[in-house]
Amino acid sequence: MKMPVVFVGHGSPMNIIEENEFTEGWKEIAKKIPKPTAVLCISAHWFTQGQKVSTNPVPETIYDFYGFPDALYQITYPAKGSIALAEKVADLLGGKVEKDSSQGLDHGAWSVLKFMFPEADVPVVQLSVNRANSPQASFELGMKLRKLREEGVLILGSGDVVHNLRLIDWNMPNGGYVWANSFDEYIKKAVKKYDVDDVIDYQNAGEEEQKSFYFRDHYDPLLYCLGAVDAKDKAEVYNDKRVLGSLSMTSYVWKSKIE
Ligand code: ZN
Repeated sequence: MKMPVVFVGHGSPMNIIEENEFTEGWKEIAKKIPKPTAVLCISAHWFTQGQKVSTNPVPETIYDFYGFPDALYQITYPAKGSIALAEKVADLLGGKVEKDSSQGLDHGAWSVLKFMFPEADVPVVQLSVNRANSPQASFELGMKLRKLREEGVLILGSGDVVHNLRLIDWNMPNGGYVWANSFDEYIKKAVKKYDVDDVIDYQNAGEEEQKSFYFRDHYDPLLYCLGAVDAKDKAEVYNDKRVLGSLSMTSYVWKSKIE
């Protein structure tokens, strides 16, 4: 069978030590899909000029966040890399990708994988989010990855549909601004109908909704995932919530309707 595709809203690094409803959601997602042969993670926190893939056989845990409690910097996620998968990804992308043998696992990847596969026994390769891509190009890149699903590889996008750190309100732990809720809802409707154009042309969501992000680092992982699925996949929604005003935790799992 075809491996499902997963997009997770990873939110704040504090989720890692809070072990809250969102981390429970990530655990549940992993329980409801077959165990993958490997994970190809497209994380917002590897945002590069040009397309890169990690070929590090032993990627270290990267602590790419600042000013958080010490406990967060003590956690390690010792999953191995997979040069074989990285080579395959480079082939599928027609060689238009730079291999990076020094890249570790950023927190967009390990903070979620730690709950999905706590034993760290599934090899992980990261594919960067190419800042030079248009939304259409990110979607088309995802299409080239479809074949991996037949080989049991889990394509895992990690970002946030709504991600505006400048407008975060720490007095709003549970809830989103009106425009944040509206944008997340707009994208959710499009994802459920596989209305790809609405996700690519997200500016049509409305003027206020454009506050949802200023850079597409956290948004494009969703487009990579959408490319890797098609209209024959059904989207399930997890963690459908906004927090701190301007962060969305909404996550998607696409499963093939034809088993
Ligand atoms: Zn992030």
